[in-house]
Amino acid sequence: MVEETTRDEATWYRCEECGLVFDIDADAQQHEANCTAEDPPYLR
Ligand SMILES: [Zn+2]
Repeated sequence: MVEETTRDEATWYRCEECGLVFDIDADAQQHEANCTAEDPPYLR
């Protein structure tokens, strides 16, 4: 899911799967659709 957060008076969209943060809702939605959180590269 994409979590919407407000920080520094700006709205951010965070991918709950991997923690990536986007400043554009559409970008977060698109990322989430292709998210590979089950296989995060930074944990390998
Ligand atoms: Zn993600």
